[in-house]
Amino acid sequence: MSEPRYDVLIRGGNVIDGTGAAQRQADVAIAGGRIAAVGTVDGEAARVIDATGLAVAPGFIDVHSHDDVALLNNPTLDFKAAQGVTTVVCGNCGLGPAPANERLQQFFQRGVEGILGPVREFAWQSLGEFYEAVRATRPGVNAAFLAPHGSLRVAAMGWERRAPTTDEMATMKAQLAEGMAAGAIGLSTGLMYVPGTFAETDELIELARVAAGFGGLYVSHIRNEGDGLLDSVREAIRIGEESGAPVQISHHKAAARANWGLTQQSLPLIDEARARGVDVTIDAYPYTAASTSLAAIARGGRLVPVFQPADIMVASVKHQHQYEGKRLDEVAEMMDLPVEDATKRLLDEEENAVVAVMFIMDEGDVSRVLQHPTCMIGSDGIPSPTGKPHPRLYGTFPRVLGHYAREERLYSLEEAVRRMTSLPAATFRLTDRGELREGAWADVVIFDPERVAATATYEDPRQYPTGIPYVLVNGEFVVDGGEPIPAGAGQVLARGS
Ligand SMILES: [Zn+2]
Repeated sequence: MSEPRYDVLIRGGNVIDGTGAAQRQADVAIAGGRIAAVGTVDGEAARVIDATGLAVAPGFIDVHSHDDVALLNNPTLDFKAAQGVTTVVCGNCGLGPAPANERLQQFFQRGVEGILGPVREFAWQSLGEFYEAVRATRPGVNAAFLAPHGSLRVAAMGWERRAPTTDEMATMKAQLAEGMAAGAIGLSTGLMYVPGTFAETDELIELARVAAGFGGLYVSHIRNEGDGLLDSVREAIRIGEESGAPVQISHHKAAARANWGLTQQSLPLIDEARARGVDVTIDAYPYTAASTSLAAIARGGRLVPVFQPADIMVASVKHQHQYEGKRLDEVAEMMDLPVEDATKRLLDEEENAVVAVMFIMDEGDVSRVLQHPTCMIGSDGIPSPTGKPHPRLYGTFPRVLGHYAREERLYSLEEAVRRMTSLPAATFRLTDRGELREGAWADVVIFDPERVAATATYEDPRQYPTGIPYVLVNGEFVVDGGEPIPAGAGQVLARGS
């Protein structure tokens, strides 16, 4: 017996190749981790999948993840693989576990671990050493990294509410350059959070210039997504324009009822910038609720005034799990305290590691943003090991396919797939990913276009989607028969040229 020519042969599926081209029936052959052929394929394969009636697409790229630490704690990353996600972009919102000096470790203990999860051991210092640590855990999916401004700033100068000194700036630039040289995709900022909020625009331009020098992006959780939305979008555009870095505005939204409809003005700002040659793109998740650290929206227990306690749900905490799934007004009732005191007590007792889900967006804004020609999909999933994380962690990609493409007809299935594959691969410079063509890496998702759906809810968020029977990463199955399985086939992706 001779060796089979192919590792996997996917027969008779409807290939949606990621470019936006109309689907067509074709076989897909995989060998040595790459796509060997697309078309009518003859030849033996070690494994043959009958994909009749199913869609065969490039694996999805989650451009906005917080899976940096989850990749170490749970390398299978089952909640993403089950959605058809084969690459996660990490290091978003200025947050990440490197460069890991004493101050950075305190930064984690003071609340960041509520978002990213607990780090068992900081077995690295620099950004590049952290990427090596991820590589060594053999993750199930591919990972790419942004160099996080908040972590760079804390490591260099602590929690200082002022501009960096010349020395501190030099330290940040050197650490950033080290990460970029090690393959980082760009620089991320979280300007709503401490310490990002302490940075003036000039500091960010200077750092974005370093990223741009390596061909990297500037990716931003902008300063204010509520009544300051338009100025914050203008600031992001200015940083791109003056630094030369392409700009990605993360999880674009108009937060809080008073600001609903503002995306009708923010999106034209992006169009105008693009018209004068600034490369600006956006991402979004397909839900009307947001989620972040409670400490960021309720400093000292006092909720940002535009939010109502009844609109804020406690998603996860460290210790007192009875509060998970409860709204802040209910927490106050349980504690028999006024809302502000109850919120402060919760934050104190949980050492700030409280994640909240906030019901603060309008459907009109969400669908308007998703339809914008530059909008790709980023889950912003918060991989809390406990509690009730926002359902976007388990449901983002199937919800776009099932709800927004199939049911709401926001766009065609081919267009939905393009926004999850070739558009992010081109924007984030991920070479030979995001397209189903001969020679590309064999990141593949096989799904049922009639059945694909998110089943995760706010009440019961830890549920795999339906209608996604197979997912492959670099030619290896990471979902088989609808079940995520450990494979260790993921790679750490460096920025392409
Ligand atoms: Zn963010």
